[in-house]
Amino acid sequence: MSENNFVVVIDAGHGGRDPGASLALEHGQFIAEKDITLTMAKALGKALGDRGIDHVFTRKDDRYVGLDERVHLAQQLGGDILISLHVNMARRATASGLSVYTLSHSASDKLAEDFAQQENSSIGTNLDDAGIVSQILQQQAARGSDELATAMIMSVAGHGEILERPLRKANFAVLRAYHMPAVLVELGFLSHPGDLDLLFDPAWRSKTSTALADAIMVWHRNLVD
Ligand SMILES: [Zn+2]
Repeated sequence: MSENNFVVVIDAGHGGRDPGASLALEHGQFIAEKDITLTMAKALGKALGDRGIDHVFTRKDDRYVGLDERVHLAQQLGGDILISLHVNMARRATASGLSVYTLSHSASDKLAEDFAQQENSSIGTNLDDAGIVSQILQQQAARGSDELATAMIMSVAGHGEILERPLRKANFAVLRAYHMPAVLVELGFLSHPGDLDLLFDPAWRSKTSTALADAIMVWHRNLVD
């Protein structure tokens, strides 16, 4: 990975016929996760572009992309890391703040397990097999994912709301890229009124995407130095 051909894959969760988590409002309107993730994907793209970091998107508009297709796209597009953006919905109404997930076959906790189940059940996938990717590459990618997740939380925690125990693990289909570091950023909770306000606040979106882009930049610099 050199500074020049480092490519970040930005994955806006859900899309098209898959709205993700949704919240009904008055007057028959509703808020869909897929719209929030797309807006944030564009904000993160802008923040990365401002820092001279190359990036590609798994989707740029409201279209359906399957979970396994996202992983294939990330590889085809020459990505070095995958950032998948999502919004959560919790049974526990007090849960709030941003968190970052990395791949693990066993979930770190109940909330992480529920979240992965919701995300994976939206669309079936058969990417369970790591195939020809060697274990060494997988281990390197897993270490990179953990370091990137930590860098992101440190960066966001400097200015924003984060979930208690913000680094979590679960078996997310979209993170099974195996050979490349991959993290799933859960931006906040639709089920929390304070988070909902922030998710629709342009200032928060800009601050948060800037913090995530800074974390990516710092993590990548440490890698090439
Ligand atoms: Zn989602």
